[in-house]
Amino acid sequence: MENLKIAIQKSGRLSDESLGLLKACGIRFSNGAGKLRTEALNFPLELYFLRDDDIPQYVADGVADLGMVGENVLYEKQLPLTVAAKLGFGQCRLALAVPKNEAYLSLASLRGKRIATSYPGLLREFLREKHVDAEIHEISGSVEIAPGIGLADAICDLVNTGSTLLTNGLREVETVLQSEAVLARPPQLSAEKKALLQRLLFRIEAVQQANRNKYILLNAPNDKLDDIIGLLPGIKSPTVLPLALPGWSSLHSVIEENQFWEVIEKLKEAGAEGILVVPIEKMIA
Ligand code: ATP
Ligand code: ZN
Repeated sequence: MENLKIAIQKSGRLSDESLGLLKACGIRFSNGAGKLRTEALNFPLELYFLRDDDIPQYVADGVADLGMVGENVLYEKQLPLTVAAKLGFGQCRLALAVPKNEAYLSLASLRGKRIATSYPGLLREFLREKHVDAEIHEISGSVEIAPGIGLADAICDLVNTGSTLLTNGLREVETVLQSEAVLARPPQLSAEKKALLQRLLFRIEAVQQANRNKYILLNAPNDKLDDIIGLLPGIKSPTVLPLALPGWSSLHSVIEENQFWEVIEKLKEAGAEGILVVPIEKMIA
């Protein structure tokens, strides 16, 4: 049987979470530290450890079947690849920033200015769309120091918290692209690889659903059950079990992490007691 070959970042911000996601999908690896390539122990899959910038090209060339890479890198390369799944980590944005004391009203303020970036493709496209004519200076690293040393008037760089910008006396003014890690694939894959990709996507979805949801257990007096059930949608509907104590029931359900606190408050008001919330490891709705 053929292996599904996946390229992931060798060492950097995406490495741990790329490997962690595959492990959460139940795929185990022998200790591959320092290696260029490692094979999974319990799934027809092998990993290539590469620089993130090289991942799209390797996938486009068919050396790897799939790649875990930031959208920023993927779209900058402008290769015929598509996103098979968003992976929910590596969030950042490609942003424009100017020296903090520099007047900035709108994008028009950048007309005729020199902008330093490692993402000339994405920046050019953005400026063209906004009808702003500016000079793009491609540099490969330490973009944030360019204005300070007189190399540029503004920068276009990746930002997460913005603290790097602050320490370099810069102010973020526009978002060019919101980015997260994705699973990139070529348009064509063999039937066998496609089937493996489907199996992998099914597992990734189960892991992501589990992360988005919590298992909740609570006790409620029977006369309040209807109200409480109304607050808990569950996968189909909540499970209700009688407690040993007459007149009381235990209720089990699943709630989404992002509505969690709001629901808990309402449950308490509705008469729920002994609320337990536990993580879900895998979830197939
Ligand atoms: P490599 O040696 O693989 O080329 P790198 O230095 O280019 O590594 P990292 O800094 O590890 O790359 O970032 C990898 C990816 O992580 C980025 O392309 C981006 O998608 C994502 N990322 C998330 N947050 C940030 C951030 N605050 N700054 C930069 N990249 C971020
Ligand atoms: Zn890189």
